Amino acid sequence: MPIAKLPRPARLRVRPYATTTGSRPPLSGLSATAKAKAEQLSKEWKGTNATGENTKNFIGGQFVESKADKWIDVVDPATQTLLTRVPETTSSEFDQAVNAASEAYKTWSRSSVLTRQRFVLDLQHQLKQNGDAIASSIVLEQGKTYPDAQGDLLRGLQVVETACGIPTALMGQTIEGTKAASSLPMASSHLLFATDSIAPFNFPAMIPLWTIPMALATGNTLILKPSERDPGAAMIIAELCQRAGLPEGVLNVVHGTVPTVNAICDHPAIKAISFVGGDRAGKHIYERGRATGKRVQANLGAKNHAVLMPDANKNHALNSIIGAAFGAAGQRCMAISVAVLVGPTHSWIPELVERAKKLKVNQGFEQGTDLGPVISPAAKQRITGLIASAEEEGGIIALDGRNYQVPGYPDGNWVGPTVIEATTTMRCYREEIFGPVLIVIKADTLDDALAIINENKYGNGTAIFTQSGATARKFEREVEVGQVGINVPIPVPLPMFSWSGNKASFLGDIPFYGRHGIDFYTQNKTTTALWKAEDAIGNKASVDMPTHH
Ligand code: NAD
Repeated sequence: MPIAKLPRPARLRVRPYATTTGSRPPLSGLSATAKAKAEQLSKEWKGTNATGENTKNFIGGQFVESKADKWIDVVDPATQTLLTRVPETTSSEFDQAVNAASEAYKTWSRSSVLTRQRFVLDLQHQLKQNGDAIASSIVLEQGKTYPDAQGDLLRGLQVVETACGIPTALMGQTIEGTKAASSLPMASSHLLFATDSIAPFNFPAMIPLWTIPMALATGNTLILKPSERDPGAAMIIAELCQRAGLPEGVLNVVHGTVPTVNAICDHPAIKAISFVGGDRAGKHIYERGRATGKRVQANLGAKNHAVLMPDANKNHALNSIIGAAFGAAGQRCMAISVAVLVGPTHSWIPELVERAKKLKVNQGFEQGTDLGPVISPAAKQRITGLIASAEEEGGIIALDGRNYQVPGYPDGNWVGPTVIEATTTMRCYREEIFGPVLIVIKADTLDDALAIINENKYGNGTAIFTQSGATARKFEREVEVGQVGINVPIPVPLPMFSWSGNKASFLGDIPFYGRHGIDFYTQNKTTTALWKAEDAIGNKASVDMPTHH
């Protein structure tokens, strides 16, 4: 069945706007802190809202109310309180966004690189000044803890800071001709695109900030489609771009689901798509975007293994694995979701479980919270279903986070830390769970551990915990995964490098940010020039193939 015709996922509660305006639930479901934050966000920001009003589109420099007849509820995952609604952008509004981006491209693509650098520098300042608003919006809509939400922004900010070096990054290369400077081949990067970025729910600030600075600093214009589940951070970032002096139309934000995404894939004026999200949507977007000749980069799902060697620093290794497995409720694409325990480390399982038990699950603004709720009731159902499948297939549930209760929050999508001893044939191992569930697999040797990881279809991230340089070096060379950590649990590359997930975790040829990010948003061009004084007087044409000698 074509993906666009699949039934609407249960989590999308799309309702006609007119029938819901009069029945907005009050914010009374929120804690006093969350309510105060929601009211402050609604008061201070033009495009977003957290007190039940609509989120706007951002088109041609204006925050505009959509005329959509379908709206999607955005709810607090700790209480199910309605925070805002996002429109299923109409096709005429989408066209307005593309027109705004195309029009702005004519001048922005020809602006001085110093103008674009100044914008990125100002954006960096604005993001730092307004970190609390962005983090608060993330806690309310996405559910992660406040410190984790600050980390979400910080990782995006690092990409902005790297993009401040855009004049150097865009320098071309020249070579002098061999004969008296008569021929000058020159390779340089030229801007090309009106581009699009489609984001997932789990990093509402970081992932838009992977694309906004890179696309705009290279002189492109961008249409961003945030996740329909947590649009607030992207809307605040859009307003901050405006405050940083970005001309109208250079960045546009439209909301929606499958129809909006399909419109992006099909529109001839859009030349490139950056996508981050799940396998199903990513494969669809890659194929549909490529069919209309677009350049597509698509970061997809993951199953990240951590190998625990007997010579590891036990304390550091166990704490790292637990933090990386359960932080953000396991909803990070680089979360450790599988621990491969080698040899004598099998006996460390009880201690792993004891430490995991100590983590506190609660609403993201509550003091001392280690992990918040998962994003939706449907996600909770899928996660608990996969835990149940492990039980049915003979796995051992060493720690069971189903039925986790949080006092004061009876309606939250709670799943507590869960540890399952399993085998590689079980569903809980084969499928991405994207929740606070750690699968433990036993292996006898490092070679066995490597074989397990290399047979897995995904290649996003992996880590090894060892005190041996030789073991680490062997692992680094032989593991077929793009992002490798040695005693580092979440080895996301620093932003001057590029994202390097591989195998089924990536579709496309040119990855996100860093040097490759520049390549993705530019078109390489070479110029070969000949300037010789005698040409001014010669009158006989040469028909030989020019060889530049
Ligand atoms: P998702 O695929 O459901 O949604 C991502 C985006 O695609 C959203 O904007 C959504 O509106 C759109 N979309 C969803 N279904 C679609 C469809 N059928 N057709 C067209 N568009 C569609 O992903 P999510 O649940 O928001 O995010 C979680 C997933 O993202 C996980 O699988 C996770 O591993 C992955 N992820 C990967 C990375 C990475 O860098 N590899 C980073 C973050 C998240």
